[in-house]
Amino acid sequence: MAKIGFIGLGNMGGPMAANLVTAGHQVTVFDLSETALAQAREAGCGTAEHLVDVADGADYVISMLPADHHVEGVYLGDKGLQSQLSSATLVIDCSTISAETARKLGSTLAEHNIRFIDAPVSGGVGGAKAGTLTFICGGAADAVEQARDVLSAMGKNVFRAGDVGAGQVAKICNNMLLSVLMAGTSEALQLGIAHGLDPKVLSEIMLQSSGRNWTLEVYNPCPGVMENVPASNGYDGGFMVDLMAKDLGLAQQAALRSGASTPMGSLTLNLYRSWAQLGHGREDFSSIFKYVTPQQKK
Ligand code: NAD
Repeated sequence: MAKIGFIGLGNMGGPMAANLVTAGHQVTVFDLSETALAQAREAGCGTAEHLVDVADGADYVISMLPADHHVEGVYLGDKGLQSQLSSATLVIDCSTISAETARKLGSTLAEHNIRFIDAPVSGGVGGAKAGTLTFICGGAADAVEQARDVLSAMGKNVFRAGDVGAGQVAKICNNMLLSVLMAGTSEALQLGIAHGLDPKVLSEIMLQSSGRNWTLEVYNPCPGVMENVPASNGYDGGFMVDLMAKDLGLAQQAALRSGASTPMGSLTLNLYRSWAQLGHGREDFSSIFKYVTPQQKK
């Protein structure tokens, strides 16, 4: 059993912390939301009144926060954890942030002899609840090995992509591809529907044909085709459009820095940003299906 501090109890962090408790770990959590803290208490977590309390005697501190500035604030801010952590603690940041911020965090904590890995995840809220996430880690090999113990309580795959920051690079490559698959699947389904096809039948056909992909397998964007996905629940929960737009922005920044050519990623960034600007930022990212609704013929 390990003593774990956990920060950020949103759609992902809440169920992840609960799974750590189920695995027998002693988990102390912190979030800015009282509702999230109350839910974590019900799941068996101890709650910290102040951020710094999660670091107290912790073997691991794990964070699952929205974006770069939240992570920087929590660790390196004026009242951040940097000065409270001890060298006995391994810090694991599971948020999706830029590789640069992850490296800055890693090197700043290293100056205080605190070990750090970035470990962004894939698998969505369903994977967080079921404890089947994939962790994509960047950091020293022995630190990733040590983290495997606790990460296994929340996921089924733990990969090491390379040194600190490499997890984030692999993660944005994956999410850029996911956005392309989601937008493409939505377009194909809407085209079929516009021609009178039943989306359930069309989904089954594409699932058994060369268009098969993850969105058709487990995350169909068309309401009513699949149970227990955001599309069949008013696009509530899941992975927000705002967060997908953030990840696509990170991918484009990375592409600019390296000179990589990512025209499809640029297209989906613009799609997701416009969809967010139209007021859909807090819906699940599969709601892009509604953006590609056929126009009524005049
Ligand atoms: P979310 O918005 O549901 O949750 C974020 C939580 O962090 C909230 O509870 C918020 O109150 C808390 N928070 C914000 N600032 C804080 C601070 N300073 N101190 C303490 N708590 C703070 O987000 P999410 O969907 O859980 O996503 C978290 C991260 O995981 C993001 O980086 C996202 O890109 C990534 N991710 C999400 C999914 C998904 O399907 N939702 C999948 C993979 C990766």
